[in-house]
Amino acid sequence: MLPPETSESARSGREREACQLALIHRIARIAAENAALGERLRQIVRLLREHLGCALVACASIDRGSGRFRCEALAAEMPSDIHLGYGRELGSGVVGEVAASGQTLYVADVARHPNYVETLPGTRSELCVAMRHHGEVMGVINAEALQPDAFGTEIDLLETIAEQLAGMFATERLNGEQRQRLRLLGMLSELSRTAIEADGLDEVLLRIAQFLRERFALESVGVLLVEGDPTRLRFKAHAGNSVFHGRSGGDWPESLGIIGRAFRSGQAQYVADVVEDHDYVLGNPAVAAEYVLPIRLRGEFIGLLNLEAADPRSLSDDNRQMLDALAEQVAGAVHLAATNARLREINRLVEEKSAALGQANRHLREANRKLEQLSHRDGLTGIGNRRRFDEALALEWGRAQRHGYSLALLLLDIDDFKSYNDGYGHLAGDDALRQVARVLNEALGRAEDCVARYGGEEFAVLLPQSTLADAEPVAVHVAQAIARLALPHAYSRAAPYLTVSIGVAALVPEAGLDALALVTRADGALYRAKTLGRNRIETATTSLALAAT
Ligand code: GH3
Ligand code: MG
Ligand code: MG
Repeated sequence: MLPPETSESARSGREREACQLALIHRIARIAAENAALGERLRQIVRLLREHLGCALVACASIDRGSGRFRCEALAAEMPSDIHLGYGRELGSGVVGEVAASGQTLYVADVARHPNYVETLPGTRSELCVAMRHHGEVMGVINAEALQPDAFGTEIDLLETIAEQLAGMFATERLNGEQRQRLRLLGMLSELSRTAIEADGLDEVLLRIAQFLRERFALESVGVLLVEGDPTRLRFKAHAGNSVFHGRSGGDWPESLGIIGRAFRSGQAQYVADVVEDHDYVLGNPAVAAEYVLPIRLRGEFIGLLNLEAADPRSLSDDNRQMLDALAEQVAGAVHLAATNARLREINRLVEEKSAALGQANRHLREANRKLEQLSHRDGLTGIGNRRRFDEALALEWGRAQRHGYSLALLLLDIDDFKSYNDGYGHLAGDDALRQVARVLNEALGRAEDCVARYGGEEFAVLLPQSTLADAEPVAVHVAQAIARLALPHAYSRAAPYLTVSIGVAALVPEAGLDALALVTRADGALYRAKTLGRNRIETATTSLALAAT
């Protein structure tokens, strides 16, 4: 059994406990306030120093990136080396030791602690506890007293308060992250709007450069892309002050500067102090920090963002994280612009091609028209050919049928033309054919009359709305006109000059009859003219002998 406590010590113990509980309660209320973190910490360290009755209480945060601790709040009885923002490496001094180990360290007599670093002259004892949240050391609380062994009974209290503060730090960090995320989201949407509104890749990139420069208060922003040659970078857009501005549109050598290093390695390059970097190419003396980060599209390196800052805070850890996210957006914008440009180019090509196609079609129509003309025209004589005749016959037959008109046909055949060719030569024969064709053309005045070369030395004349009585004089007329050409034909059995035999037929198309009937009749008449001695006109009903003169 423990000896009973004296009522004196029991009372003072209870009083101390009540005092500590009141303190914890007050700190909890301050922690939950809305004020800025620094302000709440300031109130808390002041309360703590009052409670502990010591010379100094400070609260420090830990920056793992730089490996240092930093004073966030301070309450001191007298001046010391410590001030807001004061910091040292983790491990240095009592505070540094606790920040590194996360273990409470009570130095009852600083003279006996070899790692003690004096910041407040006259300090004799020091208590330092870590602020831990889920195992992570977020910061430390530190108390110093001018008396030795001043904190022996306060260790538990300080550890409890450290826990409270750790929660406060963690909440603050979460809030910060959330704010950062919101800011990033805002920027992302603004940037994509900027990119979408722009016209063409160059303008997209320029807008992005201007946007980043403005939002991050940068000295200059450059966008460099790989175009074609995978070993070269091209300056595509630029915003801000840089002597490299003149390089817009030019190449950036792979070997040069921090840009070159990022290009060769494919890795982001952050240089907090350009003066310290031997690769840095001095352009603008105002530049203090540089960040070069790759732009990747689906993992493939397509270019770099070159960001230069006069104030290194523009390229803080947080900002670089945001810039990394934005670089992805830049890649998307580049891709979108490139796709749009390709689409525009395709549209242009399609338009060009359809214009060319229209032109080609017009040419083709013209060529077809000529071809059609040619295909209806006899090459030697220039009058209609057999095809022309067949079409005219079908057309006129139908028309005659519809109107009940009579349609007449003359079939002409040059007499003894084979012997003409044999006697005078084929060229003379050709010439004779041309002359006969010309005479036929001239002899027939009506536009609707159709003259055609029926084949070889045979011609056909179609006379719409004509009876036999109408056709016979026409036949006589053309036969005489040909005779009047007076082309000598010493080898003809009919006359000493070139003559023709003509078969004439006329029909009113009746049901059950087709155009062939007319041709057959004319042909029959022609045959008769030949057998009856040539240089004659025979009609399907009567025959007419032409006098040989
Ligand atoms: P017929 O009086 O019975 O009609 O005797 P023909 O000699 O005129 O008749 P045939 O059918 O025996 O000979 C026709 C000749 O016409 C044969 C061919 O050399 C000639 N001929 C056909 N087409 C052409 C041509 O385009 N140019 C020339 N020069 N001669 C042609
Ligand atoms: Mg013949
Ligand atoms: Mg003949």
